[in-house]
Amino acid sequence: MAQKSIDLHTHTHCSDGSYSPRDLVRLAHEKSVNAIAVTDHDTMAGVEEALAAGEEFEVEVIPGVEISSFHDRGVLHILGYYIDARDESLQGFLQECINARNRRNPMIVQRLEELGYPLNMDEVVSLAGGEVINRPHFAQAMLNRGYVQTRQEAFDRFLGQGAPAYFAKEVFSPEEIVSFIHASGGLAVLAHPNLLNMNRLSETGAEIRRLHEQAGFDGIEAYHGDCILEYAQYYDALARELGLFTTGGSDFHGDGKHQSLGQTRCLDAIPYEFLDTMKQSLSRRQAIPNP
Ligand SMILES: [Zn+2]
Ligand SMILES: [Zn+2]
Repeated sequence: MAQKSIDLHTHTHCSDGSYSPRDLVRLAHEKSVNAIAVTDHDTMAGVEEALAAGEEFEVEVIPGVEISSFHDRGVLHILGYYIDARDESLQGFLQECINARNRRNPMIVQRLEELGYPLNMDEVVSLAGGEVINRPHFAQAMLNRGYVQTRQEAFDRFLGQGAPAYFAKEVFSPEEIVSFIHASGGLAVLAHPNLLNMNRLSETGAEIRRLHEQAGFDGIEAYHGDCILEYAQYYDALARELGLFTTGGSDFHGDGKHQSLGQTRCLDAIPYEFLDTMKQSLSRRQAIPNP
């Protein structure tokens, strides 16, 4: 019998994926992936349909979400698992995540225009390449226009704290996101550490430690989409050292985009053992009464 396999990071058309939740689960069934987590950006709207499809196609479906935080260097996403999708305070929190960043970006564009440095929102959106728009994208757009010589200059003169086009915190901090996930009974996992965009692996390691100290993750997504084996093993070892579990997911968005469902660049199948370890962590967490 083949080893059981999983995929703990997938998107549906409820965020920026192309499959419906049901079609995603059916694809998992066709590819003999035994368990998948649906982790749309800032929404759990697809979870209910996916859970129903999971019963239909005999695929274990884990309710999940991927929440964007901010990071000055790269992309910081936190995955939440085993959260109750119908929880009302959760709905409110996720809506606030979406509102907060939708509000801020036009404000930056408007202020820069007033200062005599017009940018198109479209330029910034395309620099973000489908990711959540962050200040580094504005800095890059300013550099492309020749308004500044370096991205750092854009931060110093315009975008950094205290500068004229600075607007306070766009989205929630990692610790706010993690504590919300915990309060909703879920587990919090640092997604794709590669995208923190540090210069070297050792710097990423130091950054993971710093973020974990601050936020208190339960796990690290060591095996992600196109992460190479050397890096994935490094993150895996670091997770162990920090007493965290390791997860793996393709970050599947649909056919022809990134990785295939159930696979990463260095794993043809993601072992079910990762999910076993996650479940052990969940039952330990549930044994602790919530303050
Ligand atoms: Zn992500
Ligand atoms: Zn994702």
